[in-house]
Amino acid sequence: MSGTMGNIYDIKRFTAHDGPGIRSLVFFKGCPLRCRWCANPESQQFSSQLMFYKNKCAGCGKCIAVCPNAAVLRDETFGFIAEGSKCNACGICAEACLYGAREIIGKMYTVEEVLSAVLKDSMHYDNSGGGVTLTGGEPFMQPEFIFGLLKALKAYSVNIAVETSGYTKWEYIERALPYIDLIYFDLKHIDGEAHKEYTGVSAEPILRNLKKLNSGLYNGELVIRVPFIPGVNSSDEVQSHIFSYLSGLKSVERVEIMPYHRLGSSKYEGLGLQYGLKCVEPVEKDGLKYLTDMGKRFGLKVQVDAK
Ligand code: SF4
Ligand code: SF4
Repeated sequence: MSGTMGNIYDIKRFTAHDGPGIRSLVFFKGCPLRCRWCANPESQQFSSQLMFYKNKCAGCGKCIAVCPNAAVLRDETFGFIAEGSKCNACGICAEACLYGAREIIGKMYTVEEVLSAVLKDSMHYDNSGGGVTLTGGEPFMQPEFIFGLLKALKAYSVNIAVETSGYTKWEYIERALPYIDLIYFDLKHIDGEAHKEYTGVSAEPILRNLKKLNSGLYNGELVIRVPFIPGVNSSDEVQSHIFSYLSGLKSVERVEIMPYHRLGSSKYEGLGLQYGLKCVEPVEKDGLKYLTDMGKRFGLKVQVDAK
């Protein structure tokens, strides 16, 4: 089996979303996008990093005393965060903190280690029609690791879903296709400039990969996920444009609209980052039911907050 290692920041067992049945979710660390609404900012940086939980901190200062790199900042707003350029995520302060206020996010795993973690629940996958979902971050940012893991999972006939931003090389997606049963493909905007402004990258490679996925090379299920972000892509004009584009792709099984929420905003503080959408109010899913009808007019099956 492959000796490649991958940086994984969480493995969640017994979930009932991100695919059919009971599933394990494997979260890959690292993402080429910087979406302003990202609910998992700890997934963005590829390397492991320190998360500080201000609500648990007693202010004892032990982390400052033990850090070998003088990397702990006592910031007025954020508290005892780590200075990114000095912190090497050694974890010494996290071990020393008696209050559980510090945690290293991201750990290097072998394929075998992930496999043995997720196979513990194979009986539940079989009984419920579930399986394993690889998500992140962007799983294809670790191409050798995802490929090794896909092959290993398929050898055990595990149902596999992958959630991707689509921002990756087509070769990486293509060689993975025979192993994937379900792809969640995120589409945030269709306008190139707006996409770049709000996510930091161009939409072009994403749309190119989506088109290739539609060309008959993939036999599994293709679901498009569209985050609904007020002021970014929430107008009828932008939504119609997205639906119109998707209606031309015959492989798309359905579209899932993901209403904007702020559940990840507190994590930004723990990483010493500013949350980019502070003034935007969360969206109630009931208010988005009209998108199902709008989708029908384009011949699309649209679900709101199906996660
Ligand atoms: S060691 Fe823990 S409780 Fe003490 S200041 Fe640091 S983070 Fe806070
Ligand atoms: S993880 Fe290591 S380098 Fe980073 S703040 Fe803690 S002790 Fe210092």
